[in-house]
Amino acid sequence: MTQAELAYRRLEPITLGSHREFLERRLAKIGAPVPRYPSMFDSPLHEALGEVTADVLAALVDLGFAPGRVAALTVGLTGNDGFTARYRSFPGDGSGLVLVSDSMVSLCYSYCEFEGRALQAMVSGGLLRMAAKVFLTRFTGTIGGDPRSLAGILRYHNVNRRVYGVPAVLNLVPVPDDPGMDEFLLDYGLRFVVGHEAAHHVLDDGHSELDADTLALFTAAEAFARYQAENMDFLPERYRREAAEFHGLIGALITMLALQTSERALFLRRGHSHLPAQDRATRLVEHVLSPARQETLDRLLGGRDPRMALRFDKDRGNLGVYVGALVRATAQASDFSAGATPFDWAALAGVPEIEQLAGADLDEIAALDRLMCGPDPVLTDRLDPGTRHILAGRLKEGLSAWGLAADRVEALLDPSRVLAFHTLVEDLQNTAKDLHTAVAAATLVARRLPGTESSSPGAGVPMGGRGR
Ligand SMILES: [Zn+2]
Repeated sequence: MTQAELAYRRLEPITLGSHREFLERRLAKIGAPVPRYPSMFDSPLHEALGEVTADVLAALVDLGFAPGRVAALTVGLTGNDGFTARYRSFPGDGSGLVLVSDSMVSLCYSYCEFEGRALQAMVSGGLLRMAAKVFLTRFTGTIGGDPRSLAGILRYHNVNRRVYGVPAVLNLVPVPDDPGMDEFLLDYGLRFVVGHEAAHHVLDDGHSELDADTLALFTAAEAFARYQAENMDFLPERYRREAAEFHGLIGALITMLALQTSERALFLRRGHSHLPAQDRATRLVEHVLSPARQETLDRLLGGRDPRMALRFDKDRGNLGVYVGALVRATAQASDFSAGATPFDWAALAGVPEIEQLAGADLDEIAALDRLMCGPDPVLTDRLDPGTRHILAGRLKEGLSAWGLAADRVEALLDPSRVLAFHTLVEDLQNTAKDLHTAVAAATLVARRLPGTESSSPGAGVPMGGRGR
């Protein structure tokens, strides 16, 4: 067994039950309705990424990377709060470990469910209707349903993950004859995520994050092209490649938006190994569909191919159309800052496309959401004198007065450590008498923590006003 395999085994011991059953027990504890999770959650956690991993590793070998190096990778899903996705190397035996969080997969799946319907609606009803719809999008600028439904589903996930650490989700109501586009898109997205982390394993030292993103994109495209070659070999090679690259890019953008949601909504300190997801996505699209790359292609082809120029312009335009609604929903779902526009939970209750709404306690979710956007002083004042220290910016004194152990205080205040909002809630739950007080106190602390994006030079000043 390699060191990477051992490390993964320690983090996620082998279980027999499916990950879905594990999550359903946690959902029952917090009284949340049971959703449809992606089919990979039907397997135990340590097997769930098996197919995606096999696709990515085979594609890397096809692209020319040394099979021995590729085989030294272990890829696994984790329920741990501390990651979205990350790579760790073990120089002792040259093995490497890629971890992807189940929360990241659930978030990706919500995007895919929404986008899958949009794409399905585009292609249903024949080519003529599709052409008419594409024409219409030139005026509306986007495809897909009401972004409010996606924003609501994502924000529901974020509130639950921040408060309980559980990846609870809601689904869109199933459509008849659903061809499973959501699972299809999820595969693209996860091949990109795993491909990016695997790139850190196979590329030489000194490679950039953009190099890893670019290789991930081509790995995802290669995996898709293999699938297509087996199932759509009537298409000329050239068109197969182009379609693979375009679909790879959509998968990359979906995962980057899911990452952005996680980074903004779930993490107080996300570590600084990667650029913010939005900047990454912009750079990747510019890089892949850039005039510079087109010039390289022109050189390779020995002259300009007018169809390629057309394609580059078209893809840039199409990408905006495909992801416009997703970008808007991401912004609405992930802002918990003091100045955030309150999310309209009452309006969500009337969105017919969302399943399980009747079973979800939206009043409680809305109350928790409000506490995280502006802590309630009536609750936090009960925790004096700790609260007074926190408000004055004396975090160490405040957390100690609240009874936190010295090593926990140190961990929470260390700007170099990754920190999820949920960890803070868990730490404060022993101090606070009830969940709402713990959430209010966590919000108070979060706004003032060193090394977080929400802390600012004026962070010692009470936020949101005392007394409403
Ligand atoms: Zn990276």
